[in-house]
Amino acid sequence: MRVLYPGSFDPLTFGHLDLIQRACELFGGVVVAVLKNPAKKPTFDLERRLHQIKMATGHLNGVETISFEGLTVSCARANKADLILRGLRAMSDFEYELQIAHTNRSLDADFETIFLASEAHHSFLSSSVVKEVARFGGTVAHMVPEIVARDLERLFNSGESTNQNGEH
Ligand code: ADP
Repeated sequence: MRVLYPGSFDPLTFGHLDLIQRACELFGGVVVAVLKNPAKKPTFDLERRLHQIKMATGHLNGVETISFEGLTVSCARANKADLILRGLRAMSDFEYELQIAHTNRSLDADFETIFLASEAHHSFLSSSVVKEVARFGGTVAHMVPEIVARDLERLFNSGESTNQNGEH
């Protein structure tokens, strides 16, 4: 089974990474698909998000990192995936995720969405919470991979002139 894990990953957290790891164990690999949503201005541009994921998953076998625009089901078809993976942290995720899963299935019944429950100790983690903490100078080392922690530090706390890609 080939599994597609779509998301914004803006930025990648240990919650995402945990799902990627578990998908590798369950399915022998996973295609991480980073959404390029022209309607949303991301904190980290697409190239940086792809780089963060590649760096943070370098130790895992079977992780492919791609980007996509448009429908998830089109991306799944183009990449010959069988399953779409999403994560559930709490009941608050459930309603939204169920709606998306039904929508995707109504568009293309060839794809099943499967859900993995977040590890309890990752269930409070979201990209937006991580950014809030980093913005106000809090430590995020226990929330995100090192590459992301460094990028956040540069972005919010250095006071140096950097662009959103963490480059000087
Ligand atoms: P999106 O913008 O598409 O919701 P995200 O990058 O926020 O993308 O999340 C991608 C997927 O990963 C979603 O299914 C989300 O529920 C899941 N996810 C996010 N954070 C966690 C976490 N801490 N633990 C488990 N799953 C998570």
